[in-house]
Amino acid sequence: MKCDPELYRATSPSLAVKPRLIRHLFLPPLIIALMIGLGYIGFWISEHYGIRSLSENGQRQLELHARAVESEISKYTYLPSLLELETSVSKLLADPSPEHRQTVNDYLEGLNRRSRSRAIYVMDTTGRVMATSNWRDVDSYLGEDLSFRAYFQNAIRGQPGRFYGIGSTNGEPGYYLAHGLEEHGKIIGVAVVKVRLEAMEERWQRARLEAFVSDENGIIILSSDPARRLKSVVPLRDETKEKLARSLQYYWFPLNELQPLARETLSEGVEKLTFPANSELVSDDENISYLSQTRPLSDTPWNFTLLTPLQDLRREAINQGILVAVAFALVAFLLIAWNERRKVIATRLAAREALQEANNQLERRITERTVDLRASNERLKGQIRERRHAEETLRRAQDELVQAGKLAAIGQMSTSIAHELNQPLAALRTLSGNTVRFLERGQLDVASTNLKTINELIDRMGRITASLRSFARRGDDKGQACLGKGVNAALQLLDGRMKNTQLHCHFEEVQVRIDQTRLEQILVNLIGNALDAMQAQPLPELWLEGEAVDGKYRLRVRDNGHGIDAEARKHLFEPFFTTKPGEQGLGLGLTLSASLAAATGGHLGVEHPASGGTAFVLSLPLVSPTPAEPI
Ligand code: ADP
Repeated sequence: MKCDPELYRATSPSLAVKPRLIRHLFLPPLIIALMIGLGYIGFWISEHYGIRSLSENGQRQLELHARAVESEISKYTYLPSLLELETSVSKLLADPSPEHRQTVNDYLEGLNRRSRSRAIYVMDTTGRVMATSNWRDVDSYLGEDLSFRAYFQNAIRGQPGRFYGIGSTNGEPGYYLAHGLEEHGKIIGVAVVKVRLEAMEERWQRARLEAFVSDENGIIILSSDPARRLKSVVPLRDETKEKLARSLQYYWFPLNELQPLARETLSEGVEKLTFPANSELVSDDENISYLSQTRPLSDTPWNFTLLTPLQDLRREAINQGILVAVAFALVAFLLIAWNERRKVIATRLAAREALQEANNQLERRITERTVDLRASNERLKGQIRERRHAEETLRRAQDELVQAGKLAAIGQMSTSIAHELNQPLAALRTLSGNTVRFLERGQLDVASTNLKTINELIDRMGRITASLRSFARRGDDKGQACLGKGVNAALQLLDGRMKNTQLHCHFEEVQVRIDQTRLEQILVNLIGNALDAMQAQPLPELWLEGEAVDGKYRLRVRDNGHGIDAEARKHLFEPFFTTKPGEQGLGLGLTLSASLAAATGGHLGVEHPASGGTAFVLSLPLVSPTPAEPI
């Protein structure tokens, strides 16, 4: 099967390779870039919504804990003003006698115990402590001058004194609430309640809450994390620092700034703070981010700040980003795989279609060729029929011709037969007359010899008539003949015309597949023609030479006659072709001889030797392949 290459021709290489090369070069970086981009977007969205959700949740927490702080502080707001109602206090301030002081000390001690505050004390207008709940303690405030304290200065001016600071006596932090004690519209002293707010810090720690309260200066006064305490959340100005140092509000604490690495304001009161790794506050190796939500506390200049760590959220956002990137990579991989599979299927389909098309073409061609072959077969059959018909006609014509030829030959031969018979008859007449005379003379030997000759002559005459009879007979040739016998018979028949012809015989005594009479007829024709051709030859010579070739015996009948001219050579074996004048030739001898030879499977041909004359070659099948001894 031969396929049409056109059907399988692919796109030209320059066109087919380029896009694939570009795809292979740019697709992986593009996918990686998209993976990173989508991963980052996933991370960003997750973080953004996570912060928003944390912020909403934190807002509730912020509110809750800020209220708790407010209620804790407001619990003690009215406690110092209560002392205004206590007459023993006003007596002490009017007359600071030891009895009055002791009375107030006892009163304050009891009040302090009941209110669970840290200390309650009363100062005169100069800021000296007149009586205190902790009068029994070694580090009692009694007699101390606290006029430098801001809460005193505010209270003496009739304003509420709110103050968070470190105690100057024992260095203990506390919340101070001061109230100017009035009598008849005049401030006679100041009552102060010191409260410890550490309980709130413990509560935050227990709740694992990261929160702090910063005062009006931005200094953290309460914090769930002790490390953050007394750190400033805003940069402190120099004058503020000086003022704070003078008031000893924070004793001698350094008030370091708690500066974040990055600060991002998300909304009002909501910030994202990032603290550096290994800072005072962060023990971790990596930066820590917090969501910071701040709300002012009512009745105080303070702020409550809730810190929500963002590590978990960040980790989750990173995971989400990775998940998005991996999902994208998976989808991209599936898409590429699907696309490759689609291409493979398309290629297979195209190949199948091309194969189908090639098959169809082949089938079409086979059908066309089959039609052509059938037509030429029909033509050939017609030609064969015509040829058979022509052969049949020819054979019939040949048969007719042979028959006609035979009859014609009989006519022709009858003259020579008559001539041939007349000669032996004349000889017989002479011999018989002589024999009678020899018998009368008693010469029996001579008479016997003559009688023998007469006998032979009669035999010869019988043979002549027999051959004449057989010549006219039609039928298949299935006999055998002895070549030597045939030659002898022919020569005998033509004996009268041989005259002075020199005969050269060189052939073997072989048996050939032909009727004896027919062989003799052929030889009579060939030798007769040779004798005719040599009539003008002063030294006529006749050669009869034989040889066995390929199971056949070839007998050359050669003469040194006038030969055959070029024009005559073309028509030699044609019926009725003769060059002989008048009644001498019928032009059937060679035709008949050739046809008789062919009927046995033999052949009759002609040669024109360069030395002159003509040679007819009679080839007949041998009966036995090994010829007998030569004659
Ligand atoms: P016919 O002898 O009646 O003419 P043939 O068929 O025997 O018919 O011969 C045909 C012709 O072939 C002869 O007329 C003669 O011209 C030529 N021919 C045959 N044998 C010889 C020969 N041996 N030499 C020269 N010519 C020959």
